Amino acid sequence: MNPVDFVRRKRDGGAHSAADIEAFIQGFVREKVTDYQASAWLMAAFLNGLSDAETLALTRAMLRSGKVLGLRSVRAPKIDKHSTGGVGDKVSLCLAPLVAACGVAVPMISGRGLGHTGGTLDKLEAISGFRIDLDAKRFERTVRDVGTCMIGQTGELAPADRRLYALRDVTATVESIPLIVASILSKKLAEGIDGLVLDVKCGDGAFMKDLKSARALARALVSVGKAAGKRVSALITDMSAPIGRCIGNALETGEAIEVLRNAGPPDTRALTLALGAEMLQLGKRARTERAALSLLEQALENGAGLDVLRRMVKAQGGDARVIDDPARLPQAKLQLDVLAPKAGYVAAIDAYSLGMLAIELGAGRTRADQLIDYSAGFELQAVVGDHDSRFEPPIGRLGSGSGRRKLLTGLKAAQSSAPRAGADGVTPRKLSAQCTR
Ligand code: URA
Repeated sequence: MNPVDFVRRKRDGGAHSAADIEAFIQGFVREKVTDYQASAWLMAAFLNGLSDAETLALTRAMLRSGKVLGLRSVRAPKIDKHSTGGVGDKVSLCLAPLVAACGVAVPMISGRGLGHTGGTLDKLEAISGFRIDLDAKRFERTVRDVGTCMIGQTGELAPADRRLYALRDVTATVESIPLIVASILSKKLAEGIDGLVLDVKCGDGAFMKDLKSARALARALVSVGKAAGKRVSALITDMSAPIGRCIGNALETGEAIEVLRNAGPPDTRALTLALGAEMLQLGKRARTERAALSLLEQALENGAGLDVLRRMVKAQGGDARVIDDPARLPQAKLQLDVLAPKAGYVAAIDAYSLGMLAIELGAGRTRADQLIDYSAGFELQAVVGDHDSRFEPPIGRLGSGSGRRKLLTGLKAAQSSAPRAGADGVTPRKLSAQCTR
């Protein structure tokens, strides 16, 4: 395979064989294909697309570029969940322990924040001492003994994705369905799972802004995942407003603990249950959604899910006392109330702007080497549908450890962007949980 011919073929709208894709990816990982050749091919693939067969071949080649975990000592069915990224999405933190408490193992390799969306690893690291860098042996042992473990991607798993993603990020080639599918699935299949539930986010706060593109991504993920021999399903869920009331790492970890205490915001609980029901069905622990929901609700009521989280935090070196005393999580030293610009019903909340605001407050990064302020974030006091008078109660509270000036800038942004008050009624929030199997 000559890399120039390979790029030319896609540039001219041709199709690749699986063998050529494999050779190109191998060449890239071994640095025989240069970054500029790979970048040119990414743009050609972005513009001319990849067929399902090419996407499957790319997924397999990226998967084979590194190690694939066996997790042979884990007897339980192994099912993971992946979200395409949202604002306030703390669901992994409560979902994985809850599903594990129902007998399905959840080996989860997660990411950090990307753009305006938060990342599970950053939320976990808000717990003092929590280690996300366990080696493969300790990861397997924790999944086997506790039922779940959450770590970061190592250099050994799907290294082709890590390098291709870095190129996509700087060549405007991220928003391509086949490239997203191969990127997500190559990493997830490297976990040694039996099945995967995908939470495809749709709305202003998501990468997929409309239902048509969310559906296309969901269908492609399911079809390529199944062709790779896994049990896969996808839910398309609403990201037109933040999930729950909290945005920011320590705040979101606290909110996930609340869900496992059988409380927490109704939308966060509903999303956790919907995804959990899919996972239990893929793991064959429940035949129907109803049976799965009943198991999950039991594990919320009797505290079994909370207990798994406690054991996971302990096994990963974290301060497990936060589970019973969330006040031990980092607390913002400075807090400011945000008042609605006018009285009325909250008609919409701009998830994207709040995600960006959280980054500005210090909860996320604009450069990979930036340190995070785990205490920083935003707590919504009103959600879509709530009525708000001008002064009481405030619609949100900003917090940060890093200076009043930052907070005041954030306050301005929060007041102008979220939540918006509509005096004459409410646009109901849609939680579209559409399932693709
Ligand atoms: N998340 C990923 O892991 N890869 C993509 O390409 C997009 C989102």
